[in-house]
Amino acid sequence: MTTTTTMLLAKTAAAAAVRQALLARPLGAVSKRFASSGLSFELSDEQRALDDLSKKFAVNEIAPAAAHHDKTGEFPWDLVKKAHELGLMNVHIPEAYGGLGLGGVDCCIVSENLAYGCSGISTAIGGPTLAESPLIVGASEDIKKRYLGRMTEEPLIASYCVTEPGCGSDVANVQTFAEKRGDEWVINGNKAWITGAGHANWFFVLARTDRNAKPGSAFTGFVVDADTAGVILGKKEPNMGQRASDTRTVTFEDAVVPDANRVGDVGFGFKLAMKAFDITRPEVAAGAVGVAQRALDEALKYSLERKTFGVPIIGHQAVSFMLADMKMGVDASRWLTLRSAWELDAGRRPTFFASMAKAFAADHAMKCTTDAVQIFGGNGYSSDYPVEKLMRDCKIFQIYEGTSQIQRHIIAQTMAEMAKQGAM
Ligand SMILES: Cc1cc2nc3c(=O)[nH]c(=O)nc-3n(C[C@H](O)[C@H](O)[C@H](O)COP(=O)(O)OP(=O)(O)OC[C@H]3O[C@@H](n4cnc5c(N)ncnc54)[C@H](O)[C@@H]3O)c2cc1C
Repeated sequence: MTTTTTMLLAKTAAAAAVRQALLARPLGAVSKRFASSGLSFELSDEQRALDDLSKKFAVNEIAPAAAHHDKTGEFPWDLVKKAHELGLMNVHIPEAYGGLGLGGVDCCIVSENLAYGCSGISTAIGGPTLAESPLIVGASEDIKKRYLGRMTEEPLIASYCVTEPGCGSDVANVQTFAEKRGDEWVINGNKAWITGAGHANWFFVLARTDRNAKPGSAFTGFVVDADTAGVILGKKEPNMGQRASDTRTVTFEDAVVPDANRVGDVGFGFKLAMKAFDITRPEVAAGAVGVAQRALDEALKYSLERKTFGVPIIGHQAVSFMLADMKMGVDASRWLTLRSAWELDAGRRPTFFASMAKAFAADHAMKCTTDAVQIFGGNGYSSDYPVEKLMRDCKIFQIYEGTSQIQRHIIAQTMAEMAKQGAM
């Protein structure tokens, strides 16, 4: 942990308590505890402190600001700065580069809580994780120090530029091209739907570097500073939900990048871009769990207050069974999500579990938020009540970082491979 992060975390008593607990924790303590004592659903003391800190921030600071940012689409810079100050941003960045180096389970705890407050604001705060992850997976020490280091020193945004207008699911069809000229690369192409782009300090960019090679060796990753000549931002997209988050096109017109900003080997970009999801998909699934939990809490509270036919509506079996289904799915989503993060902490590739967690949690959160609107009746349809926003915000969990269909494709493919090897 750097001096800067130490100073930032010490700024509040609660953050100081978390810091103390984290410092006392031996490296890899989470996975060791699970491995040595069998299956456990308990959080450690330091995880409980992290849970408490992030929950309080979400409830006291994020939730009250959610409606304003939803209506105006204003980027929540104040909350980004506060999250950074509390040590709730970039938590997965290794200690060597100034981060806390927290594990996957720890990151999921933070992600679920922040999304409980508002998933648009939590995407603004957590979005840089996706840009940072390919660097964690495969960048040189020099790039890690320069680009991960600055993220821990001040509240900055970074964006992951992979999707293009012509391809999202089909990443192998990326057309943006980087041409080597001496010690530099010249990038040309259009990226679409880039989270945080309007405020980004730098971009991770996936570009084709060989027009003839197969996907596994045709692409290379680059870090591009946002102020590079030839980087052109589009307008903020008028999205259905998560309006606090900034999404734009990013065009590269003869953008020149030094070879020193190449992430990993030439031709290694596709693997980098995909491996990044091993870190981020459990966190995205946790965000969906947070939204689903919020929908459940709002619907449960309303069902105890609202009366029809002389009784609170929870007294009608049709309503109470909807709530029971919501609860079962929230718990199932949470445990599947934590299992995927635990695989990461155990040093194994969590791809299979992360796909199951993301698809299941996203699909269930969509059902949960839709049912919450139903339980609110006419009031559910009004923006004066909290649940219609949850339903709009939630839809994106089934789309970004791999659609629910693509997750099922990964799950089925993995099962088939395992079955062929007799491992199923
Ligand atoms: C708000 C928002 C933020 C985003 N942020 C980022 C970001 O920061 N960086 C970034 O790079 N991208 C980002 N994306 C892009 C996102 O990852 C893509 O939109 C997503 O992967 C889907 O790609 P697509 O939109 O091209 O849809 P398509 O790939 O065209 O898919 C259309 C439909 O067909 C289905 N489909 C496609 N192929 C298959 C298949 N083989 N089998 C079954 N079904 C299939 C899909 O599931 C979907 O239902 C963001 C998108 C949005 C909306």
